[in-house]
Amino acid sequence: MNVPAIPPSPRPASLRRYFVWLLLGVIGLFVGGMALSVMFSLRANEAAEMRLLRLEAEQAAASVTRDWNYYQEVVDNLAHDPELIDLMLVGTDMEKQVWAKARQRLLPGVLGLALTSPAGKIYGDAAAQRVGPLCLRELSNTLNGERNQVLVHRDKPGYEHVDLLTEVRSPDGEILGKIFTSVRMAQLQRIVDDSTRPGDAIRLLDSTGQAVVGSGAVSGAMREVRVPVPAMGWKLVAQTPIRFGGFGGWLQILAGILTLAGVLGLLIVTALRMRRPVMQDIAAAQDALSCLTRDESVRPIVTRYVEFAPVAENINRIALHLKEQRDQLEHLSLTDSLTELPNRRAFEMVFAQALGLAERNQAIALVMIDIDYFKGVNDHYGHGVGDQVLLALAQSLKALTRRADMAARLAGDEFTVLLSGLDPAGVNAWYQRLDDHFKARLGALGLELQTGLSAGQTWLGSAGVDSMNEALIRADRALYRAKALGRGQLVQEATLPPE
Ligand code: GH3
Ligand code: MG
Repeated sequence: MNVPAIPPSPRPASLRRYFVWLLLGVIGLFVGGMALSVMFSLRANEAAEMRLLRLEAEQAAASVTRDWNYYQEVVDNLAHDPELIDLMLVGTDMEKQVWAKARQRLLPGVLGLALTSPAGKIYGDAAAQRVGPLCLRELSNTLNGERNQVLVHRDKPGYEHVDLLTEVRSPDGEILGKIFTSVRMAQLQRIVDDSTRPGDAIRLLDSTGQAVVGSGAVSGAMREVRVPVPAMGWKLVAQTPIRFGGFGGWLQILAGILTLAGVLGLLIVTALRMRRPVMQDIAAAQDALSCLTRDESVRPIVTRYVEFAPVAENINRIALHLKEQRDQLEHLSLTDSLTELPNRRAFEMVFAQALGLAERNQAIALVMIDIDYFKGVNDHYGHGVGDQVLLALAQSLKALTRRADMAARLAGDEFTVLLSGLDPAGVNAWYQRLDDHFKARLGALGLELQTGLSAGQTWLGSAGVDSMNEALIRADRALYRAKALGRGQLVQEATLPPE
């Protein structure tokens, strides 16, 4: 017979590897998503920080400009005061000095105040009006047109200041002199201090790039914004450190990590909880199948997951079907097909138990029965009738044996019976009842036959240690004697049953 070739199956997928890839995929997606989210949030954070820093710088620059403009305006107003114009035209040096000192006391934040000639010479005593030597030198430079900028003087600690020069003109535009004002830098320092956010730094740079005043210090990675202060020709620099993510950013990352851990935990717990019953279902199916291949009996499988139920149902059905077939085969192998009585094999199996009972001193009689002149029945009436005779004897044996007894067809017209709990007279009476029953059945079948039953009987264990062969030989010998004595009778072994 040609067996169809099994097609090569593709390499089976591994559930475990599948799950590991799933875990890696989830981790990858999460980490990628987190990285993107952190990147976008850092970008947004950076833009917001820069906006805030620029605002801080612009506000500080505006405050500085406002302060500077205030002094400019005050001195401009003084320069247009008619009283000062008169003083410049006709006043003595001493009167000019008195005027300057009086105004200086009135103006907060002004260190020195003096009136100069158009050529830059201070009227009165320069020191008394707090005009230092550096200021005097710078004054002459400015007046010579060499310098045209806001002058910063910090030669004397505690007296750092910025000089301001304003022309005093007559009503017809003639330059009568100038007002020299030095404004304390502490004023600017306060403005810068007030404008600086904690952690940030602000520097006010003069036109040469030198820091005039500053507040705070930033080290390491920083962001910087420069804004001009046009009123003074200066620049203002604001700096802020780069803070990674900030509190919100760290919270975001922590929330992401916790979510990832939660999702992974859930996946692992679910997989582990699923794995056990799945493995049990697979193992149950596997055990059942290997039992079936070994031709062993299988208990019905009960699955934990409904998905396995169809497989289990099929296995259970196959197992039941095989069991029925096995039982049927066993029945056939132990049963005589014509008479439905146990056959020689079944007799051998039961005989071992009967021998055990005999060894425990129970009286077990083995009777061998043979139909007389059966060959003649066959020859005369045909095999069909012969079979009916065999069946009649089988029915009589079934009718007259109890549950503890056993009747079997050994071969042809030869039958054996194991009888328990009978004495020799009881066995003889049983034989008589059997013979009567048999003949009555033949009569009922309408068979007028010149036949009967010859039987030979022995007791199990009567010759000491016994075996089936020896017991059968003894019974056969008794049967032979019954035949020899003229048939239709039972010959019992002389030995009495064991007590
Ligand atoms: P005896 O009285 O000495 O026993 O003589 P007998 O004619 O009965 O001789 P024996 O017991 O040797 O005959 C057995 C015969 O049984 C031989 C065989 O043809 C016949 N036989 C065996 N099995 C069957 C069967 O299944 N059906 C039928 N009809 N006959 C069978
Ligand atoms: Mg015979």
